[in-house]
Amino acid sequence: MSHVVVIGAGIVGAATALEALSAGFRVTILEPGDPGGEQAASYGNGCWLSPMSVIPPSVPGLWKKVPRFLMDPLGPLAIRWSYFPKVAPWLVKYLLAGWTEPKVLRIAQAIRPLLAGAPALHKDLAARAGVDRLIERNGLMYVYEDRAQFEAEAMAWRVRRQVGIEWIELGPDEMRQKEPELDRRYGFGVLVEEGGHCRDPGAYVAALVAQAVAEGAALKRAKAMGFRIEGGRLRAVLTDGGEVAADKAVICAGAYSRKLASQAGSDVPLETERGYHAMVLDSPTGPRTPLMPYDGKMSITWTDRGLRCAGQVEIAGLDAAPNWKRAGILRDHLLRSFPNLPRDLPAERVRFWMGHRPSMPDGLPCIGPAAASPDVLLAFGHGHVGLVAGPRTARLVAAMLTGGAPEIPVDPFTPARFA
Ligand SMILES: Cc1cc2nc3c(=O)[nH]c(=O)nc-3n(C[C@H](O)[C@H](O)[C@H](O)COP(=O)(O)OP(=O)(O)OC[C@H]3O[C@@H](n4cnc5c(N)ncnc54)[C@H](O)[C@@H]3O)c2cc1C
Repeated sequence: MSHVVVIGAGIVGAATALEALSAGFRVTILEPGDPGGEQAASYGNGCWLSPMSVIPPSVPGLWKKVPRFLMDPLGPLAIRWSYFPKVAPWLVKYLLAGWTEPKVLRIAQAIRPLLAGAPALHKDLAARAGVDRLIERNGLMYVYEDRAQFEAEAMAWRVRRQVGIEWIELGPDEMRQKEPELDRRYGFGVLVEEGGHCRDPGAYVAALVAQAVAEGAALKRAKAMGFRIEGGRLRAVLTDGGEVAADKAVICAGAYSRKLASQAGSDVPLETERGYHAMVLDSPTGPRTPLMPYDGKMSITWTDRGLRCAGQVEIAGLDAAPNWKRAGILRDHLLRSFPNLPRDLPAERVRFWMGHRPSMPDGLPCIGPAAASPDVLLAFGHGHVGLVAGPRTARLVAAMLTGGAPEIPVDPFTPARFA
């Protein structure tokens, strides 16, 4: 039986392990931490299963804000001065990727098939692991103070419409009925019914990995360090605990994948867009539907662990210490959005977390073979949409492992686009 080594147990690795098992492979998962643990972006994200997240982070005119990104360390997007020289080439590619509306539309057209139908795919995967209650399919909502604010984002909604996304617009009265606890300043809502959310992404990923193990996968607590490739064929994955003989390997190490990809011959511009969450434990109030207030650009979602507010983009690399003031901003936004939250929340009822989005400059993941061997596949770089895109990515990887036809076009995701 052909042996696949899956490197990394975030959502992408966990889903890939299960799909590889279904495709008849022997599977080993390499993960130095706990599957779905706090080290993984998959643990602390906003929980959104948002098939409408097709707009890349870089949009026309963003370049004008670069000075602000550098000057305001607490703004919704901030670049650390000390990291700027290192990130500058990536930043140029990032700004160019969303330079014009037609470019944004092309990215949206490429990524929409990766996201469409995702809540149903998650539901199936969760059911396989006996945790289908963790996936909810009751829509997602963007909230604005008024219609004018919504119209200020006309380009994004126009592009969403062009790729087939539908929504329902809610006026002040409907908003009040739907979200009675939300601050009254939000008088306009956009409900996307095809969206869903995960009640606890960390527990979900852990359950998927446990299911893979129950179905015969091996979980090895080790860090992948490189590959032994001979004559273009993979022989083994090198780890800090010795070699693991392998016929195929899939790099799913999220933001930590760049060196591994380079070991397999693919130099791809993977960066980390760091993000934060603030979570209130035992919250007495919150939204009925997960929502994203326009002014905060952060998602607010009930989870099994508490009321979570997630967001922020900080470009500072993998190694810099977290700036917890950023998580404090998220907590304060939560307090402003839900007036019934106690103002004097004791510190032990608030949890802060920082994680690393694995981000390509063009807003599209890398899914495809490495340059040095067709036996090594890259499956990372999902940026802001890795949770929602995990299951479809895994299905594409399984098709690539077996030589089958992928169910959606994969050319836009080829790692070779950066060669
Ligand atoms: C604040 C925030 C909010 C977000 N909100 C959303 C959202 O609402 N919806 C959404 O779809 N996405 C969201 N995202 C993005 C999403 O969380 C990520 O894109 C996704 O989790 C990436 O999954 P992954 O499996 O590629 O990587 P990860 O989850 O980071 O997992 C990678 C794993 O690889 C392991 N690893 C690292 N190096 C090695 C090695 N050498 N060998 C073996 N294993 C290794 C790590 O320990 C880790 O467990 C958000 C991200 C952040 C930070």
